[in-house]
Amino acid sequence: MSQNDMNNDIERVLYSEADIAEAAARIGRELSKDYDGRTPILLSVLKGAVLWTVDVMRHIQYAEIEFIDVSSYHGGVASSGEIDLITDLKADIVGRDIIILEDIVDTGRSLKFMVDLLNKRGAASVKVASLLDKKEGRVVEANVDYVGFDVPNAFVVGYGLDYKELYRNLPYVGILKREVYAPEHKDTLASNLG
Ligand code: 5GP
Ligand code: MG
Ligand code: MG
Repeated sequence: MSQNDMNNDIERVLYSEADIAEAAARIGRELSKDYDGRTPILLSVLKGAVLWTVDVMRHIQYAEIEFIDVSSYHGGVASSGEIDLITDLKADIVGRDIIILEDIVDTGRSLKFMVDLLNKRGAASVKVASLLDKKEGRVVEANVDYVGFDVPNAFVVGYGLDYKELYRNLPYVGILKREVYAPEHKDTLASNLG
């Protein structure tokens, strides 16, 4: 699928490339101030938060970077409720300040799973910087300390966020047209995704 076809699958652009760049700079500056004199570990959640992580990181003075992969979606558009640890981070985090970089927090299950894991392993502190916060979707208690945008309760893609691994490379975040994933249009979808 070309990027042109992908643009056609977007109902509405919510946050432009410029909006997102501004949010990354704002949060990067806040983190630099709040972690002044320390070297936090930016823990990027694969794969959706990769673009967000590198854009925020450019605005932070001292930071290490690590990756973790947890899964709750299993390819669909709704959270499954069960969290799997797919790829663990490599660093010893005892006594370290961790900043989890997320693309979006919805039910909060993935985030709670990671926060609990990091605390159990002895992190000195755990904070969260998420590009998007879908507060309406929350099922478990999970707090986002640094929010790019409060997003409405819709399925969004772009800037790292996928539907079946596609759309991550769109420079903006937008609402995916229902017909792309709704069952009554399954045949269209299958042919689109090849
Ligand atoms: P949670 O565990 O909070 O329900 O889900 C968090 C993860 O589900 C996110 O990191 C993201 O990967 C995925 N997710 C939640 N809402 C959306 C959405 O609107 N669009 C996409 N593409 N992924 C989402
Ligand atoms: Mg994610
Ligand atoms: Mg996904």
